[in-house]
Amino acid sequence: MDKSYKLGIIGYGGMGKWHHINTEKLDFVKAVAVYDIAQEARERAQNHGLRTYSTLEEILEDDEVDIIVIATPNEFHCPYAIKSFEAGKHVVCEKPVTLNSEELQQIIDSANAHKKVFSVHQNRRWDSDYRIIKQIYDNNELGNIFSIQSRVMGSRGIPGDWRAKKAHGGGMVLDWGVHLIDQALDMVKEKVTDVYVRMQHVRHTEVDDGFQLFLTFESGLVYLIEVSTAAYISLPRWHVSGDFGTAIVEDWSCNGKIIRPIRGKENVDATPIQAGAGLTKTMAPRGEESTVELPLPKITTNVYKDYYGNFVAAIEGREELIVKHHEVMRVMKIMEATFQSEAENSSIRVNI
Ligand code: NAD
Repeated sequence: MDKSYKLGIIGYGGMGKWHHINTEKLDFVKAVAVYDIAQEARERAQNHGLRTYSTLEEILEDDEVDIIVIATPNEFHCPYAIKSFEAGKHVVCEKPVTLNSEELQQIIDSANAHKKVFSVHQNRRWDSDYRIIKQIYDNNELGNIFSIQSRVMGSRGIPGDWRAKKAHGGGMVLDWGVHLIDQALDMVKEKVTDVYVRMQHVRHTEVDDGFQLFLTFESGLVYLIEVSTAAYISLPRWHVSGDFGTAIVEDWSCNGKIIRPIRGKENVDATPIQAGAGLTKTMAPRGEESTVELPLPKITTNVYKDYYGNFVAAIEGREELIVKHHEVMRVMKIMEATFQSEAENSSIRVNI
């Protein structure tokens, strides 16, 4: 890669700045310009050495800019992406890409018509905790997996900005759900047959501030995605069970373990134990006589190098995009089925 591609960032809030500081470490892309409607954000960008614009037209007319990075509230992603292609720019768009699949199709059609590269920043495909579980899944380390639970939990409600407003594409399904659904579909290479959600409105009525989403895959695998903004004690980030073991990832630091039965001792009988006010053999814990504890694999990733490296390689025709249009569309369709499940208070049969 000889060329250094120039980025124009639209929306220099938390994530716009994050793109800037993380691409500073790369020699094949460089942020040069910002458009933001807020003067304070423009001043922040100027203090970080970027030239700033107060209109969309100005940044799109900036001939030095090759790639537009869209990091605004969600309802602006679609119109800004389409205007960027029309101005001859490639586009990296933040998640959730749009508010619905029709808007996403408009973006894809426009990118194709103008022969520009378009990708969505699904950066959590590079989360180490996710990659650990994906490796365990891909290597079949737990036998036939029948249950995956993927959770993120906080207690602070939805931040007091646009994220709590429906018109901006707020709510936790669109905010965190989009990441966790993308991980599910990236890992399990099967069709989803059933979508069922229970949404929470603990502090917010306009949008969901948490949810439990059950995706059933063709093989019968049940994948639970849970997001809470009202949990003062968190459950583990991942809990995965197959017929030959269980894996747990506790937290973002990837503490956790794998427990597997010793071959031939899967079905050893237990001595009954007292559990609460009763007696049980079924729930008796296992020990070293029939199980082994293994460490989780160690995985490190470099999301910005990989993501932007692939994006630039796609511009140059050397690689296919990692985050593909049809994958982003699948995630959007699952989110639409999720909202349908909530509206109809029922499970939705799908073939996605
Ligand atoms: P933010 O509120 O911190 O920043 C948004 C910025 O956009 C602000 O500076 C605001 O002034 C500006 N803005 C608002 N309306 C605009 C408009 N019409 N035109 C130009 N600028 C406008 O929000 P954020 O947390 O940075 O989120 C931005 C986007 O990034 C969202 O789509 C969000 O979902 C996404 N995001 C992604 C991740 C991730 O890990 N991929 C993390 C956080 C946020």
